[in-house]
Amino acid sequence: MSRIGIIQRSVPTIGLLCAALSGGAQAPARATSAEIRDIRYEVTFDASLAARRSVKVSTTFSVAGSGPVLLSLPEWTPGAYEISNFARWVDDFAVKGDGRDLTWSKQDYDTWRVEAAGAKSITVSFTYTADTLDNAMAWARRDFLLFNGTNLFLYPEGRPLTFGARVTVHTEQGWRVVTGMHANGENSYEASSYHDLVDMPFFVGRFDFDSAQISGKWVRYATYPQGAVSGAARLTAWDQLKRVIPPEVAVFGEAPWENYTVMQIADSSYQGASGLEHQSSHVDVVTPAAIGSPFQPSLYAHEIFHAWNVKRLRPQDMWPYAYDHAQPTPWLWVSEGITDYYADLAEVRGGVIDEKGFYTATAAKMREVADTKPVSLDDASIDTWIHPVDGTQYTYYPKGSLAGFMLDIMIRDASDNRQSLDDVMRELYMTVYKGGRGFTGPDWWSAVSKAGGGRSFADFASRYVEGREAYPWDRVLALAGMRATRQNAPRLGVYTFVDSSGVLVTKIEEGSSAAAAGVREGDYLLAVGDIPVTDEQFGEHFRAKFGAAAEGSPLAVRVRRGGSTLTLTGKLRFAPAELLLDADPKASAKAVRIRNGILKGAR
Ligand SMILES: [Zn+2]
Repeated sequence: MSRIGIIQRSVPTIGLLCAALSGGAQAPARATSAEIRDIRYEVTFDASLAARRSVKVSTTFSVAGSGPVLLSLPEWTPGAYEISNFARWVDDFAVKGDGRDLTWSKQDYDTWRVEAAGAKSITVSFTYTADTLDNAMAWARRDFLLFNGTNLFLYPEGRPLTFGARVTVHTEQGWRVVTGMHANGENSYEASSYHDLVDMPFFVGRFDFDSAQISGKWVRYATYPQGAVSGAARLTAWDQLKRVIPPEVAVFGEAPWENYTVMQIADSSYQGASGLEHQSSHVDVVTPAAIGSPFQPSLYAHEIFHAWNVKRLRPQDMWPYAYDHAQPTPWLWVSEGITDYYADLAEVRGGVIDEKGFYTATAAKMREVADTKPVSLDDASIDTWIHPVDGTQYTYYPKGSLAGFMLDIMIRDASDNRQSLDDVMRELYMTVYKGGRGFTGPDWWSAVSKAGGGRSFADFASRYVEGREAYPWDRVLALAGMRATRQNAPRLGVYTFVDSSGVLVTKIEEGSSAAAAGVREGDYLLAVGDIPVTDEQFGEHFRAKFGAAAEGSPLAVRVRRGGSTLTLTGKLRFAPAELLLDADPKASAKAVRIRNGILKGAR
């Protein structure tokens, strides 16, 4: 999902949104499949299938019970909070039992009903159209395939998802396979449950691949197409990974993966940058210009932090994941927003950005929230499944990040910097996640209160999480030796989010440079002056570049509107009170300790 400054996932097309609404409305009582055992999946992707953008999938199992076998494909991929109905890309569905053709029909739109007719061993096969460039989906090129297990792997409806499974990939000689799954033989993998199986996406084909030890475990970097991230760009990416991972490991005290794989596709048909997290990998899809941009380490840090926060420590509403219906939760402000806060912390603690960079990123979030209509973190979290159009979509990213920042400051203030939000995250990870369940509201707030020396945060929750009150920045920032100031600064005056087509304008401020140029909602921003717009950090470049320019000087804005590219001519406008953040030179010794604690991760 995307928001100003940070883009996590692509946003679905209108077509998928319609699917989401119809899928969400369906909540039938689910039937239960006959028990099946010894489930093996085979995925075939060779040059001829690649040319047709197809994958062949077969699922073989033995039937242990009586009655029909009901096999389903997921409606969504965890982390991508939208209904996609992967069954829609299935073609040539066929079933054989003990070598004979068996009859089948649809039980519902993502469930197939197979009559076993006494057969002991059944093989279900289909082809899957892999033509969607989205990190939750499947996408084939002539020499490459991305797929997610949710796209291809059937499960028995109504049965426990704790079954182990094996996957074998058949591909061309010389084509490579990479996945977070545990390898067990040549191009053969195993998972101990369906949940793990579908949380480990695959790259198959030709791509660049190397690895390095970080925090005592192997990290692997797989990038497509070959040569897209090479030379200095690859060294930079590795340097960023080596800087952001250790501060994240330090929060929890362990790197929870056997190995971790960063899987990245760069393609010019994709104009934003987004990532989708998994327990031991993540998949980024980026426009080529995003490689090496300031956004890159922020994306990596965000997605990797999710390995703890949401893939392991997760709201009870999504524990366990259910694949046949939406699982809305009011806690995405923790799962996404606080992950975003820790991405900033990992960058500053690891030295990817300096103190000033942290203030810049935080002030951008403060400006965005200030300019969005008030919405509670609970409501914004729940609403993500319906992709609301009132301007509050994804507000739980910046506003949740800022709620985490405020809580961090207040806990450090209450404990004279001996405790912090780090302790809350580690405590919940060690007790709730390792206790085998998801966290609840009482779990969260009691961990916060404990770190804060027993202080109640009920008032904070009711005003700033469940309520819509503006955050009390002047008071809270002072506790951390920081201050918000307002300065005359150039203001483009657009709000955007990044979808798979680019940086989409969602709102324009009256009297701004963008309004003067005639930018409209629905335009995709391509360039401002000579600053290319490849991610949402262009605003910082814009302020830096035009800060000393004269108000009213000409400003060209290039946009894509419908099928055409337009160059609009406007005038540079300044905002008299642009919110900026910096260190307070008059901070107390205690406030300086807290500031250093946040920025350095030290006590
Ligand atoms: Zn995220």
